[in-house]
Amino acid sequence: MNDDKVTAATDFQRDESFRDTIGTVDNSGKRIWITPKKPKGKFYNARNFVAFFLLVLLYSGPFIRIGGQPLLLVNVFERKFVIFGAAFWPQDFHLFALLLLSFIIFIVTFTAVFGRVWCGWACPQTVFMELVFRKIEYWIEGDAGKQRKLNAGPWTLSKIFKKGFKQAIFFAIAFSIGNVFMAYIVGSEEWWQIVNQPPSAHFSGFTAVMVFSFIFYFVFSYFREQACVIVCPYGRYQSVLLDKNSVVISYDFKRGEPRGKKSRKNPDAQLGDCIDCHQCVDVCPTGIDIRNGTQLECVNCTACIDACDTVMTKVKRPTGLIRFASYNSIKTGNKRIFTPRVMGYTAVLMLIIMIFSGVLMTRKDVETTVLRTPGILYNQTADGGFSNVYNFKIVNKTFEEIPVRFTIKDMDANIRLNQDDLIVPKSELYSSTMVIELPQSELHEGRNQITIQVWRGEELIEEVDTTFQAPDKL
Ligand code: SF4
Ligand code: SF4
Repeated sequence: MNDDKVTAATDFQRDESFRDTIGTVDNSGKRIWITPKKPKGKFYNARNFVAFFLLVLLYSGPFIRIGGQPLLLVNVFERKFVIFGAAFWPQDFHLFALLLLSFIIFIVTFTAVFGRVWCGWACPQTVFMELVFRKIEYWIEGDAGKQRKLNAGPWTLSKIFKKGFKQAIFFAIAFSIGNVFMAYIVGSEEWWQIVNQPPSAHFSGFTAVMVFSFIFYFVFSYFREQACVIVCPYGRYQSVLLDKNSVVISYDFKRGEPRGKKSRKNPDAQLGDCIDCHQCVDVCPTGIDIRNGTQLECVNCTACIDACDTVMTKVKRPTGLIRFASYNSIKTGNKRIFTPRVMGYTAVLMLIIMIFSGVLMTRKDVETTVLRTPGILYNQTADGGFSNVYNFKIVNKTFEEIPVRFTIKDMDANIRLNQDDLIVPKSELYSSTMVIELPQSELHEGRNQITIQVWRGEELIEEVDTTFQAPDKL
């Protein structure tokens, strides 16, 4: 194993058995239900502020328009995608691939430098779980101690009411998320029709909303932190993305150890700043002890920082015993984060962003495909020339109709279409056939290379190469 990876817990921690299981599963393989204490502190306040902003953005996203188009539309059913008001089609797959690649490298670079900041601060799973659903739970059932007592107690009327009320609110929020999710997929207008008309009129849309709602309800009411610990691939990749220079939530073991409280039995004990109060563990929504070192369950939520800072303030010691820091900065004081590895990632990222920008800027509004109709070779025309029949498809990637006409480059050709004026409807794929007639003087025997020019008014918007079949002997 790469020595540079954070595999050892800390320098004081030698028992690494905690790494054999995840924090939410006991030795028999049973799930440990986590009831974290309600966090309090400056990081929690900041996260609330960020979460509010992100939730407003998430819920308003499908209704924000740029140039009359949605901010984001991911209509996988009709294979139509809109990002920041620009339409993308399956024909733009290479752009998607580049965008995805840039995104992955950005995440890798960002994680290598700053750990899982995304998880704790911006991931919808954490934002909803910790800053929406968990808050409702605290409001109805009280803090961790009261929740545990309620869970262990008999099913009284009060417990039935609290649990029922909580689940009803949970489902209502999950239903709202299901609706927003649907609006991102089909667009706000289509979603509004699903909502406003009887389920029978949009049965598949209605079913999809309900399925999404139940999935979200299941995730936030029952599955919870397991999504981050077990399912999320990003969390699993942490172990290869982080190294000892990555800034993560860290316990300052040099300052904190040996941990413990002074007592009458050991009044002269030489102890570190950690008074072993367990507050950092009690608030952790993934049930881990950050004092053991970086673990894959940690979502960088900062609850343990707030808890420990509160304790440090009470015992009149400096805050920051748990803080954002790299292992090396604690161990050696070296705070360098732009290591050669990070610089390499950054260089690759810049390169891909440049390629993506170049491809995006040269992207055409119209994309035409022309293929000779199978099974038909050629026909002779009345004036002695020859004709070929073609199938063509034109994708209009804009949100306005585009009138187009065809010519053949450097050739005196006659082109016959099925209609006099060819207008490609906005945001649609138009398919039809055309007949290209060429005089014999333009042709040689057998297969000829020709270039079809596509015009919008006087603007040449595209050139498409294809072949024209002439007789083997002219
Ligand atoms: S260890 Fe701290 S930052 Fe990590 S998940 Fe637990 S409370 Fe959040
Ligand atoms: S909250 Fe701070 S002092 Fe208390 S156990 Fe955790 S690290 Fe030690």
